[in-house]
Amino acid sequence: MTDLKRSWLASANSAETPFPLNNLPYGVFSSGDGARRMGTAIGDQVLDLTAMEADGLLSFGGTLGAGAWNGFMALGREAWARLRARLTEVLAEGGDQGLSRYLVPLANVVLHMPFNVTEYTDFYAGRHHASNVGTMFRGPENALPPNWLHIPIGYNGRASSVVVSGTDVIRPNGQIKGPNDDLPRFGPSRRFDIELEMGAIVGVPSTGPITVAEAFENIFGYVLLNDWSARDIQAWEYQPLGPFQAKATATTISPWIVTAAALEPFRTATPARETPLLDYLTEPGPMLYDIDLEVTMAPDGQAETVLSRTNYSVMYYSAAQQLAHHTSSGCPMRVGDLLGSGTISGPTKDSRGSLLELSWGGKEPITLTTGQIRSFVEDGDTLGLRGAAKGNGYQIGFGPCVGTLRPARPI
Ligand code: MN
Repeated sequence: MTDLKRSWLASANSAETPFPLNNLPYGVFSSGDGARRMGTAIGDQVLDLTAMEADGLLSFGGTLGAGAWNGFMALGREAWARLRARLTEVLAEGGDQGLSRYLVPLANVVLHMPFNVTEYTDFYAGRHHASNVGTMFRGPENALPPNWLHIPIGYNGRASSVVVSGTDVIRPNGQIKGPNDDLPRFGPSRRFDIELEMGAIVGVPSTGPITVAEAFENIFGYVLLNDWSARDIQAWEYQPLGPFQAKATATTISPWIVTAAALEPFRTATPARETPLLDYLTEPGPMLYDIDLEVTMAPDGQAETVLSRTNYSVMYYSAAQQLAHHTSSGCPMRVGDLLGSGTISGPTKDSRGSLLELSWGGKEPITLTTGQIRSFVEDGDTLGLRGAAKGNGYQIGFGPCVGTLRPARPI
C-alpha cells in the first residue's frame, strides 16, 4: 500500500480529505464572475489551471481554457502524464508556494460537468445485481441469462441525460402496466430507483477492435455514476430490446474525474471465473480497483441514512473488458465516451446497490434512521453516492454524487 504524498498545503495532508496530492482529480468550476474554469482539487482548495496556463505556467495548447476536459484528454497519454507530474512537483512539500495565488476555496465554487459526454453506454456487469434482478423479474431458475457469464451485457444510453452532482431530477412519467391489469396507463413512475455505479471515461479514440490491454490504457479516469431507473416503466418496456425510457430521465455523475493514474496503486483482479472467458475478453492483469462505495438517502432535508456499503472490486467485468468488448464489432469510440459499470451490489443484503434489491421489489421496505419507510425514491429525497480508495494514511475520493427527486410534471 502506498503512502501519502505530502504537500505544502496543510489541508491536503489530512487523512480525511478526499483530495490529497496523490489524487489530483480534474474538474470544471466557477466562482464570482461565473466563467467556467478548469482545475484540480487539492485539500480544501481548487487550483485554477485555466489561469495558470493563461499566465504561461502550464503549456497544453490552450486546452486548459476550454471549460471541459475533452480537449486535454485528446492530447493523449504523454500530456496526461506531463500535467500530473508537473502538478505533483509544484504542489509537493518544498514546491512552489507562490502558486497559492491560484488557489480558490472549494467552499466558494460551483462545480460543473467536468467533460462533454460524447456518448453513453451502460453495462450490467455486477453478478449479484444481475442475479437479484433476474430472480425478481424472471424467477430464480432464470436469474442469470445464459449469456451473462460470457459477455459484458450493455445498452446504448443517452449522453444528453448525464448531469453533474447537485442537479435536481424530475420524476418521470411513462407507460406502466398494473399488476393485475393487461392495459398500460401513462403516469408518474411509482418505482423510481437509483443504481450505484462507476463511470469510466474514454480518453483515447479508437476506430476498430482493441485488446483489453489497449482498452485499459485508453481509459482516462473514473467518476461515480447514479443511473436513475424507473423500474415500473422498465419492467413493461424492456423486452426484447432492453432499457429505453426507464433509463433516459437522468444519470448523475460526480464532478471530479479521478484519473486512472491516481487509482493505479489500487488495482485489483476480477473475481474467479466460473467458466473461462473467450480470449478477446481475457484480462492480462488486474484491471478493477479497490474502491469503497456507499449509498445514502436523506428525506426532505433531514439526516441521511447509509443504505448500503460495497466495493467496486466485486464486479465480474472491468471497464477495460467492457471497452474492449464494445469495440469488438468495429464500433468507433471517441474521446469523452462514458461507460457505466452496471450496478455494484455485493453478496450481502446491506451491500446492494439499488433500492429494487434493498427493498426486494418493495416486499421488504427499508426503515431510515429518521423513522421513515422507503421502498423506492419519494419526492424530496436526496440520494447520494460516495467513493474512496483507501491508502496508507490517505484516501482517493471522488467528491459528491447527489441528486434530489422533484415531483413529476403534470401530464
Ligand atoms: Mn445501470
